[in-house]
Amino acid sequence: MHRRAFVSLAAAPVLAACAHRDEAAAALAQADQAIGASRLNTVRFTASGSGATFGQAFLPGNEWPLITIPSFVRVMDYENGAMREDSVRVRAEPSGGGALPLMGQGEQRVSAWVRGDRAWNVTGTTAQAAPVALEQRLHDLWTTPHGVIRAAMRRPATLRMQEGLKVVSFTEPGLYRATVYIDPDGLVQGVESVMPNPVTGDTPVTATYSGWKDWGGVMFPSRIIQMAGGNPVLDVRVKEVQGNVAAGIDVPAEVAGFREKVDVQKVADGVWFFGGGSHNSVLVEFADHLMLIESPLYDGRAQAVIAQARELVPNKPLRYVVNSHHHFDHAGGLRAAAASGATLVVSELARPWYEKTFATANTVHPDAFAQARRAVTFEGVDKQRIFSDGTRTVHMQYIEDSPHAQGFMMAWLPRERLLVEADAFTPPPPNTPPPTRPSLLNLNLLDNVQRLGYSVDRILPLHGRVVPYADLRTAARM
Ligand SMILES: [Zn+2]
Repeated sequence: MHRRAFVSLAAAPVLAACAHRDEAAAALAQADQAIGASRLNTVRFTASGSGATFGQAFLPGNEWPLITIPSFVRVMDYENGAMREDSVRVRAEPSGGGALPLMGQGEQRVSAWVRGDRAWNVTGTTAQAAPVALEQRLHDLWTTPHGVIRAAMRRPATLRMQEGLKVVSFTEPGLYRATVYIDPDGLVQGVESVMPNPVTGDTPVTATYSGWKDWGGVMFPSRIIQMAGGNPVLDVRVKEVQGNVAAGIDVPAEVAGFREKVDVQKVADGVWFFGGGSHNSVLVEFADHLMLIESPLYDGRAQAVIAQARELVPNKPLRYVVNSHHHFDHAGGLRAAAASGATLVVSELARPWYEKTFATANTVHPDAFAQARRAVTFEGVDKQRIFSDGTRTVHMQYIEDSPHAQGFMMAWLPRERLLVEADAFTPPPPNTPPPTRPSLLNLNLLDNVQRLGYSVDRILPLHGRVVPYADLRTAARM
């Protein structure tokens, strides 16, 4: 009797779930029919509008800096799990991070690609692997209206009704969780999703698709609005749509063969410059421990950098990992650094935000920190802090009044006359003539160094190569 009761109680939810799954499958089939998701192997659209630089807030926790996007072209290849996005980006407010030129000083052209498990950027004819962008680009591909319906049809999905909309939920394991809102005509009105991010862990994203119409045989929305991490990132109006175009998104050989490597350059006794494809770090040896300045990008980069530090100085623990500032490209390896047991040194301005961020769940794609299940220790730098043990001295110091970020830190090693900085000065390629108009970021860095009376022979930039300090003066035309 008990056994039978157990069986029937256990069976009931399974039957209910099956019914929901059948209903979900029916809702997805209707949407597929209405928008032609499985008939559309590729789609290309052009648009323009506005957006924001995700992860590049001026102050930690602020909205992402606004930009205008005069040109935006995406090609989605659903058959091959590939996407290409070409955009032109212009700053719409003076402060905040991102690689685009300062306000009023021009545009940035971005060509961002993904296929399978590879992401890369193209500048001119040069492709550079961008593994940090992989998850976000795949997320964006598979939360487009056609992409999300195709993805949902491959996975167990559930259905509920909400205010006349069919609401279908599913998970793409390791990649994202999604909830799709389908209207009575079978059109995708929006997608709420959760994607993994190296800084913010489980990160909420919403996409809204409106103004659906028939673009010469392809059903597609006229307006796309996206929010990520609680703030707007994209708002574009579609101008042109073509279906089943030749996508031509192939992984370049150098991207296919990419793996993280650390180019070690000994700069002084006990000081090493760790060169990377886009972001560098600096290792500093103290009497009984190590300090790493910057753990950028994502777990994969951080783990390569930390392993390199341990290999160079195996008998001293990595006690401190210093973060130049809170922008996501510079902060993306902090979680792996915390997982290794290091104390994280951040600006006091960013510390409360980091503590909150590290406490968010990381369930979609648990990273090294989530798996380590250990507590993180932060130490805040309030404008200035000197780390010194008699053998080594490192000054951590705010770069004041920069439009790039607040709580923006540089490091000065007085004995070795070295300056470590991110984003305030990125050395141009050798033999580049000085710009006609110096960058405010370069001038601001120079002002700060002079104000503090630092003597500097060389700059170890966290983007680019080691250069003499004179190169900053040249760039700033001083
Ligand atoms: Zn930055």
